[in-house]
Amino acid sequence: MVQSSVLGFPRMGVLRDLKKANEAYWADKITQDALLAEAKRLRLAHWKIQKDAGVDIIPSNDFAFYDHVLDHIQLFNAVPERYTSQKLSPLDEYFAMGRGHQKGGVDVPALEMVKWFDSNYHYVKPTLQDNQTFSLAKDPKPVREFLEAKEAGFQTRPVLVGPVTFLALGKADRGSSVNPITLLDKLVPVYIELLKALKAAGAESVQIDEPVLVFDLSPEVKNAFKPAYEAIAAQGSAVPSLVVATYFGDIVHNFDVLPAFAKAQGLHVDLVRNPEQLEPVLKQLGPNQILSAGVVDGRNIWKNNFQKSLAVLQTAIKALGPERVIVATSSSLIHTPHTLASEKKLPADVYEWFSFASEKVKEVAILAKAVVDAESVRAELDANAAAMKARAESTRTNDPKVKERQAQVTEEMHNRKTAFDSRYAQQKTHLKLPLFPTTTIGSFPQTSEIRVQRNKFTKGEINEQQYDDFIKKEIDYAIQIQDELGLDVYVHGEPERNDMVQYFGERLQGYVFTTHAWVQSYGSRCVRPPIIVGDISRPAPMTVKESKYAASVSKKPMKGMLTGPVTCLRWSFPRDDVHQSIQCQQLALGLRDEVVDLEKNGIFVIQVDEPALREGLPLRKGSERDAYLKWAVDSFKLATAGVEDSTQIHSHFCYSEFQDFFHAIAALDADVLSIENSKSDAKLLKVFIDEAYPRHIGPGVYDIHSPRVPVEAEFKQRIQEMLEFLRPEQLWINPDCGLKTRKWDEVKGALTHMVNAAKYFREQY
Ligand code: GLN
Ligand code: ZN
Repeated sequence: MVQSSVLGFPRMGVLRDLKKANEAYWADKITQDALLAEAKRLRLAHWKIQKDAGVDIIPSNDFAFYDHVLDHIQLFNAVPERYTSQKLSPLDEYFAMGRGHQKGGVDVPALEMVKWFDSNYHYVKPTLQDNQTFSLAKDPKPVREFLEAKEAGFQTRPVLVGPVTFLALGKADRGSSVNPITLLDKLVPVYIELLKALKAAGAESVQIDEPVLVFDLSPEVKNAFKPAYEAIAAQGSAVPSLVVATYFGDIVHNFDVLPAFAKAQGLHVDLVRNPEQLEPVLKQLGPNQILSAGVVDGRNIWKNNFQKSLAVLQTAIKALGPERVIVATSSSLIHTPHTLASEKKLPADVYEWFSFASEKVKEVAILAKAVVDAESVRAELDANAAAMKARAESTRTNDPKVKERQAQVTEEMHNRKTAFDSRYAQQKTHLKLPLFPTTTIGSFPQTSEIRVQRNKFTKGEINEQQYDDFIKKEIDYAIQIQDELGLDVYVHGEPERNDMVQYFGERLQGYVFTTHAWVQSYGSRCVRPPIIVGDISRPAPMTVKESKYAASVSKKPMKGMLTGPVTCLRWSFPRDDVHQSIQCQQLALGLRDEVVDLEKNGIFVIQVDEPALREGLPLRKGSERDAYLKWAVDSFKLATAGVEDSTQIHSHFCYSEFQDFFHAIAALDADVLSIENSKSDAKLLKVFIDEAYPRHIGPGVYDIHSPRVPVEAEFKQRIQEMLEFLRPEQLWINPDCGLKTRKWDEVKGALTHMVNAAKYFREQY
């Protein structure tokens, strides 16, 4: 018999129930008991879904109110003193670390939150002190939830973040300089105590996640595995057996670590992302160790290709025998939506191509049966094969015109006609720009009135004409404000856009949209990415109407506003049947047409936002990263290079860590780059001089995430700092990012000060 297993299930529930309960609790609308009861209901429901699907190994402790790494911070009593000293209830202390706490006289900011590997999920960073100690929390959550499941009749396998990953993903707190991994000796005894408690509660096996094994590791992190796992193994049968789980990459480059797991029950590897690691991993396993084969994608929404997965599983079984192979999801399923059953509006043919979490758990169970006795699940196998065939042959998937166009892309199409200096000379006369030009990043406040009207339009309560008129009025207002402020390059304000990716997806062929496919991004925040199902093309202009109208009523240059190809790709669910570089190039070609159309319609400044370029960077240095940067940069260039030299191309990046991929940003050849920078040290801009960056840059001069309106002097000081690192003629003055989350009062106040500061410096030079 071959067993099936799931590494983790989404926490939110069918209708984002956990989000709603959390937010109601935060707003004091429900009691803590009510929240706890709702969480319990969700855990039980999710275990039941998996059991009913026939999954053999069901996870527990995969639930988290906010984030599972944050759970471990509290589990090990690694909570910074600024939270413990508030004497909040454990749950409130937990939320205080996740999202800050500002009530009842308490005012503490949240801990830092960052992206989980290369996913769009964010985890809370373990934040450690020089004199850090660890101890096991009272009534430890993994034990509590294991027992809760057991009582309800579910035998589960608890999931823990492993000790090396927990520390390696952590950082020293402000004012401390501790290197987290040096705390291992102190932490391992707490793991042992926890594992013993789990064993005493009846847990036979534990999934211990060490996903840092997919990174390039420093020697000290590498060396940490051996002492940690040998100390645990020395406990013998006093602790459960361990399955060490890795995902989102291959571990072949870290094989020298594997002896540390010699006593573990087995190893889980991601065979969706890196199927080629199967053969080498098989050779590394000890004589009795099992392989947990991650063949059902935890990061995507596509139905599993059973035929392909079975081939992988058969290879494993041939080497190890059926008893030593587990069929598993590639990673936790928190990166996929809850259930496909909620989607009532998908085209019927496309519906058959998808599988969300509740369907994926069935897939692992079916595969586990199929690999030993195909006839027992013949109907499922046949249905799967039919769905694969239909998708492969669908006209939605394959558009010969798109392929033909891609075949005609030339190297030349990626490059502007001349180099920056000659382009800029033309742009300067054409656009009549002053020194220190001022602009904004695109969006203006998305007021509740805008949302109301958009909803009415979606529901058919107002017609297109009425909606268009409303949008025009919003644009008029944005222009009027920019006139009053005296900005130099205008934007139309993006009132017509629901989301910077969805808006374009809705206007491109090759996309479909869901109504309930929410995925947790951080805490209670969920996103609903559009899905790329086929070859992408642009049937008609997407933004020309609004930009053209805006230009017609404004007296300064109007900046067209587009989302770049890489960001469209990264913030969608991509296809799994063609390489992402191909999808990105298709998006680029669609956007190229849009850029050219904007120019034809009198828009001579065009911004193509690429905030997601950085997050797509492969986790390891080397050829994979270089290849990604090549196609990502090429896509941007292909999208933007179709214009005349006198047309100015801008791009925008919303984070400040541009140093490690500076060369990629430079290679975009954008005339003007705006980057989020106001919260960083201006010194970071030094890279632009060091690398003799020739083009223009607008480092954000103020933080748009906060309602605070900085005084004029702050703007001046910031600009002064920037001028230490940038040439005056290359400096643009703009906010960090779009202003959609702000109120108009805040925007007017801040931009008035910003423009005044720019004028002040103009007079100095
Ligand atoms: N143009 C977009 C806006 O201003 C950019 C958003 C972003 O960078 N995330 O809203
Ligand atoms: Zn931004």
